[in-house]
Amino acid sequence: MNIALIAHDKKKQDMIVFTSAYQHILHHHHLYATGTTGKLISEATGLPVHRFQSGPYGGDQQIGALVATKEIDMIIFFRDPLTAQPHEPDVSALMRLSDVHQIPLATNMASGEIMMHGLARGDFEWRNIVKGKKD
Ligand code: PGA
Repeated sequence: MNIALIAHDKKKQDMIVFTSAYQHILHHHHLYATGTTGKLISEATGLPVHRFQSGPYGGDQQIGALVATKEIDMIIFFRDPLTAQPHEPDVSALMRLSDVHQIPLATNMASGEIMMHGLARGDFEWRNIVKGKKD
């Protein structure tokens, strides 16, 4: 599966804890991230992460483009609900596209954990059928 990981600044520590705890599952998959989030994840876990631009500079939109072409299978996006984001329109656009294309999206650690357990159990194999391939 191709998994996108994004965390707003105040949630980056949560993302490091999360990806460290689930690296035994994540290392079976292809990881993509916005710039700073990806850097922190790979430094903390050693997992290979394809990094896009930083979120405020277009990274969310780059991930959105892959959602539109069905190349992203799951998004873990730890949002900060208490801080205004300069790139809020990009965040909304990514969430909208995820709904358009039926991409599983977790916006906090609690739902992210459920997704990791489902991923380990094979609950997302239907994505391969949607994409018409096995991986
Ligand atoms: P960042 O972007 O990982 O480059 O900080 C995340 C975001 O704020 O969308």
